[in-house]
Amino acid sequence: MARWKCNSCGATKESRCKPKKCSECGAQNSMVKEETEVKEKEAGKKKKN
Ligand SMILES: [Zn+2]
Repeated sequence: MARWKCNSCGATKESRCKPKKCSECGAQNSMVKEETEVKEKEAGKKKKN
């Protein structure tokens, strides 16, 4: 799952799809994808057999 961060207020939200607007401040199109190093490690752990 991707993490999204609001450029306006800095709130973060985990969602598969890009949120249309920030749930905290209501700013539209302010959510940007936040890249994390953990992401790749998690992907390895969650590998299904
Ligand atoms: Zn916000």
